[in-house]
Amino acid sequence: MEKVLIIGGGAGGIILANSLDPKDYNVTVVDKDEYHYYQPWYLYVAFKGSKRKIGKPIASLLKPGIRYVKDEITEINLNERKAYGSLRITYDYDYIIIATGTSPDPDPIPGLREVFNEYGDYHTSVQNSLKLWNHIKNFKGGTIAIGQASPTCKCPPSLLEGAFQLEEYLNKKGLKSKTKIKFFTPFPRAYPAEPMNKVVEPMVEERGIEVMPFFDLDTVDNEKKILTSIEGDTINYDLPIIVPPCKGTKIKILPEGLQNEDRFIISDKYTMKIKGFDNAFAVGDANNLPTSKTGVTAHLEAKVVANIIQGKYDKFTGRINCPFDTAYGKATFVIADYDNPVAPYPPTRMKHFMKMSMARIYWMTLRGYADPIFDFYFDFTNPVKLNEKYATS
Ligand SMILES: Cc1cc2nc3c(=O)[nH]c(=O)nc-3n(C[C@H](O)[C@H](O)[C@H](O)COP(=O)(O)OP(=O)(O)OC[C@H]3O[C@@H](n4cnc5c(N)ncnc54)[C@H](O)[C@@H]3O)c2cc1C
Repeated sequence: MEKVLIIGGGAGGIILANSLDPKDYNVTVVDKDEYHYYQPWYLYVAFKGSKRKIGKPIASLLKPGIRYVKDEITEINLNERKAYGSLRITYDYDYIIIATGTSPDPDPIPGLREVFNEYGDYHTSVQNSLKLWNHIKNFKGGTIAIGQASPTCKCPPSLLEGAFQLEEYLNKKGLKSKTKIKFFTPFPRAYPAEPMNKVVEPMVEERGIEVMPFFDLDTVDNEKKILTSIEGDTINYDLPIIVPPCKGTKIKILPEGLQNEDRFIISDKYTMKIKGFDNAFAVGDANNLPTSKTGVTAHLEAKVVANIIQGKYDKFTGRINCPFDTAYGKATFVIADYDNPVAPYPPTRMKHFMKMSMARIYWMTLRGYADPIFDFYFDFTNPVKLNEKYATS
């Protein structure tokens, strides 16, 4: 029986494992953590103090017959078809899938580590979201600087979602008149993709959120409470909410040269095959595909790789589908693929309901039970159809 080794039991790794039949393949999932978390909910922990349980043991999410090992992989030798971890086990395989997601790395920006340790953020863990919530709930007024410290980040809408959730919270608490929200971004506008920016920019203006475009964070001075950009622009803050740079996980991959400068793995944008290898794939946030780093992308890529392993022709279209909570009970979706730009899809209450429902059906999607619903939804919201309907209106 062929051995399939999956490094990372996150969204992509679990969906891929569950898409293979353990009667046909010997599947092992290795993860350094015991639990998998529903990351989109970090937002509601940080800005609403949500106590929803959003973690489940990885082993409980895998089909019977799939093996889970708790280990941190430190080295993978693709030529020798072997992986090594801290348990000193040698893992050998016929197919390997690296689905190790992203790792937050505040250290390249002087001063950011101190702020990250003190204030947390809304992107990296439940603990960091709770840390931020403790600062937000005790906030009495002043300037809040909120934004991303590097252009590479998971779930692009989540950055502005944070600013929208924050504004709604402050408004409801009666703190708006005593507060300035400064949203900084390395991109030229509030939302990087122009068609979606046209949809959300009026909301940003109406809610009094000041956008600082082209703000590439260079240093953080937490004593003087100043952020400085590479261009020399500054923001004085009372409360900093900074999503740290996203990097690939620290695994030594041999042969060398298969990771970019941020450690993301160089892979084919249609097949997710790691450059030069037919039996090695990088799925989800861990790869360098020219598409957004989201759970939906990881899901669709995992399905394609499972088909390729089973000898079926398949190819990833670059489809993205990021839910975007615009607060006050409305949401939209950022939808595009390699061949079609983001559609200017307007926010509605129904889309907000769908985003909230995802937190419930997420666990079913990991096991593959929601696939028929997704197939219908992805066809219904095909980016060609959406652009025909909304881009011209
Ligand atoms: C605030 C926020 C909101 C978001 N909203 C959405 C949304 O609405 N819709 C959406 O689709 N996506 C959303 N995302 C993005 C989504 O959560 C991620 O893109 C998705 O989880 C990526 O899946 P993955 O399998 O690639 O990585 P992950 O799910 O992050 O899993 C990676 C796994 O690899 C393991 N690992 C890492 N290094 C090692 C190692 N060396 N050895 C062993 N194991 C290792 C980790 O422990 C982890 O379990 C959001 C993210 C955030 C933070």
